[in-house]
Amino acid sequence: MYKLRPYQTEATNAVISHFKSNNTPCVVVLPTGSGKSLVIAELAHRAHGRVLVLAHVKELVAQNFEKYESYGHKAGVYSAGLSRKDTNSNVIFGSIQSIANASDTFFQDFNLIIIDECHRISNENNSQYRKVLSHLMEMNEGLKVLGLTATPYRMDTGWVYNYHYDGFEKTSEDRFFKKCVYELPLRFMIKNNYLTPPILIDSPVACYDFSNIKPKNESGLYSQTEISDVLKDQKRVTPGIIKNVLDQSIDRKGVMIFTSSVNHAQEILTLLPKEISTIVTGSTPQKERDQILDSFKKQELKYLVNVSVLTTGFDAPHVDLIAILRPTESIGLYQQIVGRGLRLFPEKIDCLILDYTGTCVNLFNPQIDGKRVDSNSTPVIIECPKCNEENNFWGLVDDEDNIIEHYGRKCQRGIFEGESFIPCGYLFRFKLCHNCNSENDIAARVCKVCTETLIDPDKKLKEAMSLKDAHVLRVEHMEFVSSFDSKNNEQLIINYYDADAQSISEKYTFSNDGQKLAFYHNFVRHHLKRPEKYFEVKSSSDVVDKRRLFREPSFVIARYVKKHWVVREKVFN
Ligand SMILES: [Zn+2]
Ligand SMILES: [Zn+2]
Repeated sequence: MYKLRPYQTEATNAVISHFKSNNTPCVVVLPTGSGKSLVIAELAHRAHGRVLVLAHVKELVAQNFEKYESYGHKAGVYSAGLSRKDTNSNVIFGSIQSIANASDTFFQDFNLIIIDECHRISNENNSQYRKVLSHLMEMNEGLKVLGLTATPYRMDTGWVYNYHYDGFEKTSEDRFFKKCVYELPLRFMIKNNYLTPPILIDSPVACYDFSNIKPKNESGLYSQTEISDVLKDQKRVTPGIIKNVLDQSIDRKGVMIFTSSVNHAQEILTLLPKEISTIVTGSTPQKERDQILDSFKKQELKYLVNVSVLTTGFDAPHVDLIAILRPTESIGLYQQIVGRGLRLFPEKIDCLILDYTGTCVNLFNPQIDGKRVDSNSTPVIIECPKCNEENNFWGLVDDEDNIIEHYGRKCQRGIFEGESFIPCGYLFRFKLCHNCNSENDIAARVCKVCTETLIDPDKKLKEAMSLKDAHVLRVEHMEFVSSFDSKNNEQLIINYYDADAQSISEKYTFSNDGQKLAFYHNFVRHHLKRPEKYFEVKSSSDVVDKRRLFREPSFVIARYVKKHWVVREKVFN
């Protein structure tokens, strides 16, 4: 028999208590190496009725099944790749491709579906996973669906679930999984000696410079061609990198080298000792791949170069050096890669992580939703002024790690009332309703107060460009000048300049509270780089002194009124 670790018991109990109160699909997040298959076994064993455990590759199906039987339980397997199609067992481990082709009778009488690596389920209704799940739900009333993953995040659509049990709204878009009911951080696993500590070395020698490539919008992935171009241009760097890998790996047992291009992998292979090095790519035939991985696990091969294939499901616990030679799009992917080296193994003390991409990903950072605004941005923690809870956003920090600016839009936190999530609702950034002047979520289409359709900034710019009495200025520089008006009142002039040194100005005076309030609402609230911070409007010279706290707009739209250009709208990126 087996004994669950305390967190495995907690995870199991969280799932059971969730399904006791409702049937919405839920997720459990456990890092690679945390013994997911044990949690699967415990749940499958304790469930009432029939259980189907799904995975996307036969290796994972086999792994989960073997663990299950090793605990003394009996189960069936439904996978063409494993040449078994059991249909009558109470617990069945199956591969999604085979089950997609199973007959209708197969789909009957299930009570619980457990999906391993559930971040593979796309948001598209017509994907294979979604079709199989719909079919299962149609045929089994009250069916419960649990997803397991180490990385609950997809590059194309972001978070795979809506709400975290800790009171976090990860996304307000429609998701198949509604709630994450349990999550164990990687840090916990390492601290408690369940995983080997990684030793991260950023840019050990001259490294590749990927700073100019940006992820594609639709997929969130880097373009293969762009990566290849960078690698081609920086070809001379590779021999130095591989020499460094060889030097660092003298006392190491198993080395995995990650790249994302086949040509690059082949080039790397020519620089490694021939007898003990090999390559695996997406097009390596299955049989050959199995053989290669087998001799790698037996330590007959020391260096394994791989092209985007061994990031999940592959398990060689002796690996004690990971070399990263490909840019990683997300913290999740980075964790998957590094995770290959964190398994415990006799006499293994640590795992060396050599990152030659210069991207400086922190393994322990939380995944941040939304696109990284620029390559300087880094994950920051921002406390909400309304609920005092912490948010994870992209932001900019100075040399002393002070947060200068962040790109968070609304507070992600909230509380659960039963199963419904009540968001905190604080807006860091907002869209003003032109009709009733209320602040709305940046993503909102209609005003939450008066239901008027909200006009999107791009449309506003287009409209203004087509008008004769409107001027659109692309801001290159924002200047603050403190002066006095004709009545000798202190005055603040803000000049916005474009690349041709054309300018548009705004003027504010501060002689009474009403004017100060106007400045706060028309300027401070929109321009503060840290909108959650309290800013007291005192005087023109004080604002000039604090100029660094304010961000520049990307565009200023002005209208011609009584022989003057008057700023009507500012558009921020
Ligand atoms: Zn809040
Ligand atoms: Zn409104």
